[in-house]
Amino acid sequence: MPDKIGSRAKLRNYFQKHVGKILDSATLRKVAGTSEWARRVRELRNEEGLHIITHNDRSDLKPGQYILIDTKLLPAFDRGISKETRSIVLDRNGYTCQMCGVAAGELHPFDGRKVRLHIGHIIDKSQGGSDDSANLRAVCSVCNEGASNITVNRPDSVKLLMQIRRAPGSEQLKVLQWLITKFPIQSKEFVKKLK
Ligand SMILES: [Zn+2]
Repeated sequence: MPDKIGSRAKLRNYFQKHVGKILDSATLRKVAGTSEWARRVRELRNEEGLHIITHNDRSDLKPGQYILIDTKLLPAFDRGISKETRSIVLDRNGYTCQMCGVAAGELHPFDGRKVRLHIGHIIDKSQGGSDDSANLRAVCSVCNEGASNITVNRPDSVKLLMQIRRAPGSEQLKVLQWLITKFPIQSKEFVKKLK
């Protein structure tokens, strides 16, 4: 345990002395003095809220490269939220970013990276929002960093139908398929009424 805290502190120090610089895995391993260095870096990010990014966050980075973007701590994001709450929220949100609509496992249209979902607060903690699951939602890394601009307003059914009506039949069928998967019970009831 003291070893874990020691290597985390060494890494924290090193990152904070090299803000904005690309640090590679060989360097970080040496600094931490442990083969567990990658886990310690994750803890710095997820538990302490250090704004450390990787190739998953920015396409100009290679695997094994890390940057501490600034000394500002990330808002209490993912931090302090239990695994159970996390999975309740992700499940409720259909593993889909509630700001831009991308789903986990897809490639993000903004940067072509695999979508990573985080848990974000609907009302920010600084505004008095709680960690209760009712105040949480799934948000992708791109939206979390404010990089994507496609987030502003959630589209309503009028706008969506305008788009869908103009789309080719094959695309409309994909939408239908997605909706049926999302609403299996409602779909069945709806088809029954049509008969
Ligand atoms: Zn998003």
